[in-house]
Amino acid sequence: MDAVTKIRPRTGKNYIDAIKGDGRKVFIDGEEVNDVTTHPAFREAIKTTARLYDIASEPANRNIMRFNLEASPKPINRIWQLPKSENDLRLRRSAVQKWSEVTFGLMGRSPDHVAAFFCGWMMNSDVFEQNGGKEKKKYLENFYEYLSENDYYVTYTIIPPQIDRSKPMHQQSPRDLYAGVVKEKDNGIIVRGAQMLGTGAVLSDYISLGQITPIQPGDEDHAINFAVACNSPGLKIYSRRSYASAANSTFDYPLSSQFDETDSLVVFDDVFVPWEQVFVYRDLEISKDQWWKTAAHSMGNHQAQIRFVTKLRLIMGLAKRITEMNGVNKLPAVKGILGEMSSYAAMVEGLLDAQISNCSIIGKEFVEPARQPLYAAIALQSKVYPKLLNLLRELCGGGLIQLPSSSTDFKNPQIKIDIDRYIQSPGYPADERVKLMKLTWDLVGSEFAGRQEQYERFYAGPPFATKTRMESEYNFSEGERLVDDVLATYDIEGRKK
Ligand SMILES: Cc1cc2nc3c(=O)[nH]c(=O)nc-3n(C[C@H](O)[C@H](O)[C@H](O)COP(=O)(O)OP(=O)(O)OC[C@H]3O[C@@H](n4cnc5c(N)ncnc54)[C@H](O)[C@@H]3O)c2cc1C
Repeated sequence: MDAVTKIRPRTGKNYIDAIKGDGRKVFIDGEEVNDVTTHPAFREAIKTTARLYDIASEPANRNIMRFNLEASPKPINRIWQLPKSENDLRLRRSAVQKWSEVTFGLMGRSPDHVAAFFCGWMMNSDVFEQNGGKEKKKYLENFYEYLSENDYYVTYTIIPPQIDRSKPMHQQSPRDLYAGVVKEKDNGIIVRGAQMLGTGAVLSDYISLGQITPIQPGDEDHAINFAVACNSPGLKIYSRRSYASAANSTFDYPLSSQFDETDSLVVFDDVFVPWEQVFVYRDLEISKDQWWKTAAHSMGNHQAQIRFVTKLRLIMGLAKRITEMNGVNKLPAVKGILGEMSSYAAMVEGLLDAQISNCSIIGKEFVEPARQPLYAAIALQSKVYPKLLNLLRELCGGGLIQLPSSSTDFKNPQIKIDIDRYIQSPGYPADERVKLMKLTWDLVGSEFAGRQEQYERFYAGPPFATKTRMESEYNFSEGERLVDDVLATYDIEGRKK
């Protein structure tokens, strides 16, 4: 951890300069990448991320994007604000929404996501000093200050690779497959093993590692939480296939080309982590409590829901526009589909509103988003998102496929004459129609779209786990009281009481 540089407000250029050729070990397509900021697989996502920092640093956006305006001449990005009131949560929502509109909700692990987890940890940081570990709480607080002052981009890996889910972490063979401590030193720890699935890891400044999967006695070496710089010696980032480099033009793949945030297997090959960056150490209880007894999980996933609402709005806008373009928008059956889609979108927005208006106290002085509507939204997401995509596809029909092979078809006059004649709609010349349909395909049908769907199904955990979490958050007692009340109104003879 370098000294706090206080360069804020961080601009896009500051961000790119920080990660440019910084020695991080990133691999893709059989090769090591020298500079992620110029590589075709990553550079456009990095430019998009840089835009986020530019927006946060623009004086015109100061009131939305920054906090501590009076106290500091250089106020901090609002993504690091620890909310103390419902109004603070509303202000936070405005900032996150502003950023999510830059990515249209398509980059799930933008810098505000893990920042919200760090905020949540800070909102009940006493959890980190359980079992006498006072220095861990201090380390966390210092590191939060360091991250927020510098506005660093952190991503996380909090799940071990699948390998063999039938065995606990410590029974994997060999023993050091899942990332864990292999050696303790005076000044820190050595970590070995892998974690999945580091979305945005290639693009970020720091990677945080924790365990959100259930752990059990024997798993102590994995019961850790720490953060390391992406260029730490021994850290290796193996990116999945890039959709951005496969996108041959922005016109043909407008989303793949700009918002491919990348996902990676992250390998810790004897990575040294100084104690100052270790916040949980070989402690099964805190490893679990850090998610549920702090506001980390609620704050991080509340950010995710704000982003998700932006994405749903995009889907709804496309549905409306395409039905108008095809001249089917007045048909009752089409209105019915739009109505069904709107119901899902409005339900998610309502659950988001309720997270703020029903917020509750956590720790000594903070408020967190209400958990019941939050976990309801998360549990339904793996159903709502594919459902909406399917309905959008249904509205689009073959028009999503009946498209020119690429934008270059427009450049050939012989082809263009027929495209202009046959691939158009009233009020929509061919280039506009094709543009809208290609955008929609990139959201519902391309490889990028398939990954987006998998993301929305799994980013907050597998569906069985998100539903179980909802079951534990739901207040069944009111329902049980009603059951008792109704049972008490009659007896075995059928007499009313
Ligand atoms: C696109 C994408 C991006 C992601 N980004 C990140 C990231 O940035 N950081 C990060 O840490 N993680 C990330 N993840 C990982 C994500 O958190 C996990 O995918 C999720 O927690 C599920 O874990 P898993 O994939 O290991 O699935 P598993 O736990 O292996 O489950 C897969 C399926 O197996 C079945 N199953 C497994 N166990 C059980 C059980 N006990 N009971 C019943 N059924 C079971 C279910 O059908 C389940 O859906 C990402 C995932 C995706 C798809």
